[in-house]
Amino acid sequence: MAQVSELTHHIPENLPARIQHYIGGKFVDSVSGRTFDVLDPVTNENYATAAAGQKEDIDLAVAAAAEAFATGPWPRMKARERARVLYRIADAVEAQDARLAELETFDTGLPITQALGQAQRAAENFRFFADLIVAQVDDAYKVPGSQLNYVNRSPVGVAGLITPWNTPFMLESWKLAPALASGCTVVLKPAEFTPLSASLWAQIFRDAGLPDGVFNLVNGLGEEAGDALVRHPGVPLISFTGETTTGQLIYRNCAENLKGMSMELGGKSPAVVFADADLEAAIDSTLFGVFSLNGERCTAGSRILVERSIYDDFVARFAARAGKIVVGDPHDPKTEVGALVHPEHYDKVMSYVEIGKAEGRLVAGGGRPDSLPTGNYVQPTVFADVPPTARIFQEEIFGPVVAITPFDTEEEALELANGVKYGLAAYVWTSDLVRGHTFAGSIAAGMVWLNSHNVRDLRTPFGGVKASGLGHEGGYRSIDFYTEQQAVHITLGPVHTARFGAN
Ligand code: NAD
Repeated sequence: MAQVSELTHHIPENLPARIQHYIGGKFVDSVSGRTFDVLDPVTNENYATAAAGQKEDIDLAVAAAAEAFATGPWPRMKARERARVLYRIADAVEAQDARLAELETFDTGLPITQALGQAQRAAENFRFFADLIVAQVDDAYKVPGSQLNYVNRSPVGVAGLITPWNTPFMLESWKLAPALASGCTVVLKPAEFTPLSASLWAQIFRDAGLPDGVFNLVNGLGEEAGDALVRHPGVPLISFTGETTTGQLIYRNCAENLKGMSMELGGKSPAVVFADADLEAAIDSTLFGVFSLNGERCTAGSRILVERSIYDDFVARFAARAGKIVVGDPHDPKTEVGALVHPEHYDKVMSYVEIGKAEGRLVAGGGRPDSLPTGNYVQPTVFADVPPTARIFQEEIFGPVVAITPFDTEEEALELANGVKYGLAAYVWTSDLVRGHTFAGSIAAGMVWLNSHNVRDLRTPFGGVKASGLGHEGGYRSIDFYTEQQAVHITLGPVHTARFGAN
């Protein structure tokens, strides 16, 4: 296993000591001067202070965004012109992917190779939505000889974007790209654990030619800056990614102003492995599915359901591989699992590891690696024979911890798969084509991968059912969310109207 020490810990050059807001084209502190501490997850030392946005900072950011929306060029530009700016943004993100990954890894504890992949995905998100708006078609319906009905599309206004700390830069791009592509102006409130990479957007956008005021960033705590954004009457829509309980609160707080909402929430996704599966491929994929991104992944396959006839073999092989996963310095390219984002989150994950010891059979991991006495490191932890009533089966842990459960029949597998409150993703492994498709169709999950790990096609719907979310993003669905669609009806020829008051 990789070792971490003060000596090997990589600290990026030119780290900002102060992380500021970006409002109306200027970096600024909070009006109140308040700040919060930002920790490095390897040492848990405070490496910067960030401006702690309050209601008055959100008011300023919304005012800048509203002004840019009401009078600026961005919402009025032709799709092709906006797309050119988005392409320049994508190129700039790609050109600095190594720096972005370095900062993201430092701030989040994600392994550097995976952070690099996320930076490249962020660039791709901008290219994808640039292409989409240029190719955008809107509906027109004819009633031959009597009516023509068509759709006018326009950006909604100031979009409030609230994002979590896992893969922060990439998840911000997943909201920024369609919001900007649609012609909205935005106020982004990134997660307080990981504010570092978000401030890079400002320079990237400015260099690419995005007009001042179109992008605004307010750092701060969820219950302060986030809450003020959610409640602001000048923000007609909120796109939120985060925990289910936070989403429920935001849902209630949006009600007063009847805001448009998109909610990407938590998950406890099943990976179902039938006896006829390609076992080697299923083991590779289920290991990656739960331990990549430190297990801090909304679509993690954190419950593995395995058919009884291959169960013991699967558990033994899975546990042996999990025990060999390289945990260590997030900046080391050999590292497969890095440091969890924050000591609070580390404590939460560790508490589930302890709960799991009473609920299942520990077959790998189970605590902090001996070689890593400091930092938020957790061994990849595997519990077998976990009953569906267990908390580690039901609750989102959001760390490198997995529950494995046997099943005897397809019906039982389905019942177990659907037997939690979440419904974000599911993974199914079988060589029976008919079973694969019918089983996929029966799972209550927004996204299913069949004989595949989590590979995204940006055109497909992204989102969850049940407690995992509300609404779908991805492809045209994202553009639909950030735009109003107005129906226009024209009568061709004589108008046939009942003639009230004519007799
Ligand atoms: P979180 O809900 O604690 O915070 C998310 C964001 O909401 C942060 O920016 C936070 O400051 C803000 N926030 C908190 N309280 C708020 C309030 N009252 N009003 C407005 N904003 C508020 O989530 P997290 O711990 O940062 O992220 C992890 C969670 O995100 C996990 O549950 C994970 O499954 C989920 N997630 C879901 C997806 C998805 O696409 N479905 C993707 C990534 C993460």
